Formats: sequence, structure tokens, C-alpha cells
Amino acid sequence: MFDIMFLGTAASRPTADRGLSGLMVFHETERFLVDCGEGTQRQLIRGKVGYRKLTRVFLTHCHLDHILGLGGLAASFSEWEPLKELTIYGPPTAISLARRLLCDVVLPEAGKALNVQFVELASGETVSCDHVQVRAIAVPHREAECLAYLFEEPPRRHFDKGTAERLGVPEGPSRHQLAKGMSVTLGDGTTVSPDDVLGASVAGTRLMVVGDIADTDGLLDIAADVDGLVIESTYLDADREHARHYGHLTAVDAARFATACRAGALYLTHISGRYRGPEILEEARQWYPDAVLAKDLMRASIKPASAS
Ligand SMILES: [Zn+2]
Ligand SMILES: [Zn+2]
Repeated sequence: MFDIMFLGTAASRPTADRGLSGLMVFHETERFLVDCGEGTQRQLIRGKVGYRKLTRVFLTHCHLDHILGLGGLAASFSEWEPLKELTIYGPPTAISLARRLLCDVVLPEAGKALNVQFVELASGETVSCDHVQVRAIAVPHREAECLAYLFEEPPRRHFDKGTAERLGVPEGPSRHQLAKGMSVTLGDGTTVSPDDVLGASVAGTRLMVVGDIADTDGLLDIAADVDGLVIESTYLDADREHARHYGHLTAVDAARFATACRAGALYLTHISGRYRGPEILEEARQWYPDAVLAKDLMRASIKPASAS
């Protein structure tokens, strides 16, 4: 299961109600920040998220409304002793800009140590974290190199304690070994294999986060049956020409894509300041009735369809 918190949900410029792009993804003890628009740091404070475990930032692309908040965040981190390192992932052009912002301006000025790693990602590459894999997928968006991210839990098998008890497997290391997929030999010489005590493999939760994107055709296969989809929904269908010109989606585009890939939940974000918001939702719900319009500081849980 993943939890998410929207830090900023506006497109291009902040409004009174919406800050610039930022999404926190929580998984057990790990935290991931996707994009870091101006004002993200204050939203982290308002959302009572805390910085301690925030060591990974994934950038979707190099446009300034998605990365300028990195400056303030890194300046604060460099002053704050418990946090010593930060890894920033993204396409090469976004990494190049983030590196200039932090290494040429912010960190020399802040004067304290913060070990920042910059990692360029190509489409198809996967970042393996403690219990989650994050896959980068190239998406079209004007001239920018742009990535969407798929957060995946590994498949799991339920450990049947009753069966373990009946087979005489003692609590402790033997059970841990079986849970990890290794056979154990008991005191009486009997061998117990993982299949004796583990249930069928159950797919882990999958969450797809799509930043700016001009069209979703290339994502259909990889997003098939995702449990949660967070995606930009910048314009109304009446402003379709604007959306095409600036490399964005309309609410109809986003909702039709969610339906086509059978997403378990749909969250619309990156909303143009020209709208109040409800009209975006109304339009999306014609194609995906349970669509949710994201608001700043809104939280949600992403669970597999079978668990909800
Ligand atoms: Zn944007
Ligand atoms: Zn953009």
C-alpha cells in the first residue's frame, strides 16, 4: 500500500489555493518526493510531513515550475544536521538544471555540507529502494525530456502461521528463512520448503505518477491495471487547442486514459489557474465516474483493488 500527499496541484503558476507541483509518496518507512516546485518546503511543513526520511526526489522534467523548490529545500537540509544526503533522480536535462541550481548557487551560499547525488535516468531504468521499485518511463511533453514514474511493490506471499505451527517450525530464524524463500531442516531431520507454508503470490500495489504529458498512447501497456494513477489534467476540453499547443492533457484525455488502462483510482492534478476546479472534475467524471480532483495537502491511500 502507498500513501500519497499532494503538496502542490497548480500548473505553471501558483494560485491562492494551489501551489506548484509536488507529490509525496509514502511506503512503510520510505518517502519519495516527485517534483519540487516553488513553495514545496512550506507545504511539507503545513502537511506536517517532516524531513527526516526524505532522501529521494524524482523529477519529471526540467520546467521551472517543477524544480525551483529544490533550492530552498536543499538550503534548509544543509543547515539541518540529521539529514546528510539527498539523491535527485530525473532525465538528464532536469538533472543538469538541478545540479547548476544546487552546486553553483545554493550549496556554496549555504556553506554547510549536504551530500547531494544526481542520478540521470533513461526510460525503462528502475531504481530499487528498500521495499519499492521505481520505474522511469519516457513521455512526450513539448521539447522537454520528461519521465513518468511507476512505483511498484514486489509481489508478496502470505506466511501461514498455522501450517508452520502444525509442521513444527519454531518461531524465529527458521520462519524468517522460509518467508524469504529458503528451505529449513528441523531438529528431527524433516525438511520444510517455502511452498509448504507460503500462499499464492499476490501482486504488490502499483502507483503511476505522470507529470506533464502531451499524450498518453505510449503509457497504455505499462499502466494497465495500476491501482492508482496521479496525472496532470491541465485544461478543459473546450481549451483542447491550448492543451495540444503546450503539450498538456485535458480532463477528458486524463479520464479516458484512466478508463482505458483500468486504473483503480484516478487523481487529477496540475490544474490551470484559469479554472476554479469543479468544472475539471465534472468533465473527467463523464469518462471516469470516481475521478478525484487533487487539492493541496490532500492525502490518499492507494491499495490493490482486491483490498479496497
Ligand atoms: Zn508543469
Ligand atoms: Zn512542463
